[in-house]
Formats: sequence, C-alpha cells, structure tokens
Amino acid sequence: MHSLSGMDTTISRTAPLIDPFARAISYLRVSVTDRCDFRCVYCMSENMTFLPKKELLTLEELDRMCSTFIRMGVEKLRITGGEPLVRRDIMTFFRAMTRHLEAGALKELTLTTNGSQLQRFATDLRDAGVRRVNVSLDTLDEKKFAEITRWGRLPQVLKGIDAAQAAGLRVKINAVALKGFNEDELFDLQEWCASRDMDLTFIEVMPMGDLGNEDRLDQYWSLKDLRARLAERFTLIDLAERTGGPARYVQLQETGQKIGFITPLTHNFCESCNRVRLTCTGELYMCLGQEDMADLRAPLRASTDDAMLEDAIRAAIERKPKGHDFDYSRQKVDGQVSRHMSHTGG
Ligand code: SAM
Ligand code: SF4
Repeated sequence: MHSLSGMDTTISRTAPLIDPFARAISYLRVSVTDRCDFRCVYCMSENMTFLPKKELLTLEELDRMCSTFIRMGVEKLRITGGEPLVRRDIMTFFRAMTRHLEAGALKELTLTTNGSQLQRFATDLRDAGVRRVNVSLDTLDEKKFAEITRWGRLPQVLKGIDAAQAAGLRVKINAVALKGFNEDELFDLQEWCASRDMDLTFIEVMPMGDLGNEDRLDQYWSLKDLRARLAERFTLIDLAERTGGPARYVQLQETGQKIGFITPLTHNFCESCNRVRLTCTGELYMCLGQEDMADLRAPLRASTDDAMLEDAIRAAIERKPKGHDFDYSRQKVDGQVSRHMSHTGG
C-alpha cells in the first residue's frame, strides 16, 4: 500500500460526518487544479489568470486531505478540476488512493475529465482502481467542438474515449444542454452513446462565472424541453436510482439505454445531498450554490497530525446549508455565485 506521506496506511474510522439536517456526507469531489487545456465558453474566459502554484495543495496535502475525509466516512471520491489530468504527476495521487480502495474504506475512485489526456492515462487509471470515468463532450461536430471549447480538438477526445473503453473503463458522457448549439444533436449524441454502450447525461447550464459578452440566459435550454423531445421518439421509464445529487435517470425502453438529467436549477435535490466539494486550494464548499466555504488548508498546514483538520471539517459540515438559491424563474439570474465551475470543480 502506498501513501504519499509515507504515513497512515491503514484507516481507523472516526465518527461519521452528519450535517445539521441529518444527511451523512459520503461523497467528496476534489478539484486538483484550476488549470485546463480547454477554455469552454460556459466555464472559463479566454484569458484566464491561474493561481500561483504555491496556493495549490501539494499531492501530499491532497492525500492527507482525502485520507482524512475517508476516515470520517467519505466512500466516494470524484477527482475533477480544471482538467484533473493536466496536473503534473497526478497519477501519483491516484495510485496513493488505491490503498483506500484495497482496504475497503473507499468504495469508488473516479474522475470527470474533458478526455484530452485519456489516451495517455487510461491504463494507469484502471490500474489505480478507477472503474468509471465521466467524459464531458457537448457535440460530435468537429467545428462546433472547437468553437465551444475554444482550444479543444475533437479527434483527440474521441481517441481518449476509445482508449478508456479499451482499458476496461466504463465511460459516461456528460453534455451541457445549450440552446441553439447542440439542440439539433440530441438524437445523434443519444445514438452514438448507445452504439458504444455509454450512458449519457445532460447538464443544464448553470449561472456560474462570467461568460463575457455571451448571455447565459440565451444559452439556457431547459431539460424539461429536452426530455419532452426524447419522449416523442422513445418510451421513457423513470428510474428510482438516486445518487444523492442533482441527477435523475430514465431508461429508454426501446434501446435499454440510461439517460441522465442534471437539473440543479429546476429541481429540488437538496434534501438528499450527500456531498461537499474541495477546491484545489483547500477550500471546502458545503453547497454548490452558496458562497459559504471553510478554509481547510490553514489547519492542514498548521500541524502534521490531522486533529486540527478533522475539527475544521466537522465545524464546516455543521454549517452545511439546507439548500441552494439558484433561480431562473423570473428570467434573471438570482442567487448567482461569482466563482467559476473550474474553481469548485463542477
Ligand atoms: N475539465 C473537466 C471536464 O470538463 O469534465 C472537469 C471539470 S468541469 C468544470 C466539470 C463539468 O462541469 C463539465 O462536465 C462541464 O461541462 C461542467 N460545466 C462547466 N461549466 C458549467 C456551467 N456553467 N454550467 C453547467 N455545467 C458546467
Ligand atoms: Fe476545462 Fe472542463 Fe472547464 Fe471545459 S468545462 S474549460 S474542459 S474545466
């Protein structure tokens, strides 16, 4: 078993993390970098200023942080970013998490990626214990792909997806639903995923960050509408499956395929929320839609044992709010939060 810090190869559990609304926190999403090799228009501006390296948690610190959460009951880790696979030596971190999978404390280690580096890393990820990856892909049209990601190239991502499947990773495609952009590709995306045995989830665009000149409300394509269009062609069977997050799933009776809808704006999923998000600088966001956060980097760096960190985590979870404040209903973006998705990690 390998630990980056050379310590703590076994996990002795402490009392689980329960928030004031009796929700157990079992899912941690960790952003390991704010950097990315793409500049998706709904996520970043073209000229991003990234954080100085010293602000970021080191790989050792990420290991300590995640190991502490696992000791406190986190069973699922999703690594995200920015683009997680552009962080230098990130495989060292994935391999360090393998020990928690082997010990049974961690049930799932997974990631969300733009797919650009999957060709390089798919086998290593599989060897580290990753079994599923989410790949973000909004269009199958090369020109449109270049337009929406600004810097991305579709063939590279498609090769990454091939490599992931060849390595035995289960791939789920996440597509942001964008009015006037990929509306006409709904069935192309659905058929392409079915032909490759991949699940597909649509995400409603969220009022995050700053799109510069583009108006986010103009891009808003309601998943209610998307679902209705799917229902014109297929029989949709609602699946009971709940993830503790904003995703709902249906099965297409005719193909057996699973389609997900992530509607953080129009659905109240907060009552079952089991997750918190850690940024690459060690800030813990207890709710995606709220500004409140707790700095965990200071207690982590203040001491080499994890007692202060554990106290800070418990104090943060005590402040987890009941729900979020997003609201598009009056055609203006209420409850808008100013940070970018690349900061909190989507
Ligand atoms: N770079 C990786 C990727 O693209 O998958 C991981 C980080 S990215 C911030 C995580 C997810 O957030 C992606 O699926 C992306 O499409 C989504 N996302 C980014 N900005 C968004 C927004 N404003 N509304 C909805 N989803 C967004
Ligand atoms: Fe990068 Fe992912 Fe944001 Fe696109 S959505 S800019 S790939 S972090």
